[in-house]
Amino acid sequence: MTERTLVLVKPDGVARGLVGEVITRLERKGLRLVAAELRTLSREVAETHYAEHRERPFFGDLVEFITGGPLLALVVEGPRAIEAFRALAGATDPVKATPGTIRGDFALEVQNNIVHGSDSPESAAREVKLFFPDLG
Ligand code: ADP
Ligand code: MG
Repeated sequence: MTERTLVLVKPDGVARGLVGEVITRLERKGLRLVAAELRTLSREVAETHYAEHRERPFFGDLVEFITGGPLLALVVEGPRAIEAFRALAGATDPVKATPGTIRGDFALEVQNNIVHGSDSPESAAREVKLFFPDLG
């Protein structure tokens, strides 16, 4: 059963030149690119994307970070794509993320953790629509 997920190479990942690395890893896994766009998020889109974290103490900094430079938004497709990409990304805290994962290999700080991947079919549907409303 094919599934779609929203992947972001966050502004830290773009600034550090890790776009190719992330795409290579997900393609090597067998996931397929459906859409890709480099863009700088508006505050409004960022706050909608991270609405579940609105009450968290790090929310303001997170919105500043995610709007602070261009990011690469991707829609990625494959069998169990949501779980498959979360496994490639590793744990939210890069220090706890297993080496061999994207976060485990390339990051040290919980906010600046290189990538985002939708965490459930419901959030994937919501996030794909938020970033790519015209996608069929
Ligand atoms: P994930 O991206 O693994 O789904 P969350 O949904 O919990 O993680 O958090 C969303 C994003 O918010 C994280 O990827 C990270 O950039 C940031 N974040 C999460 N927890 C913290 C924290 N304690 N301090 C600072 N930033 C955080
Ligand atoms: Mg999350």
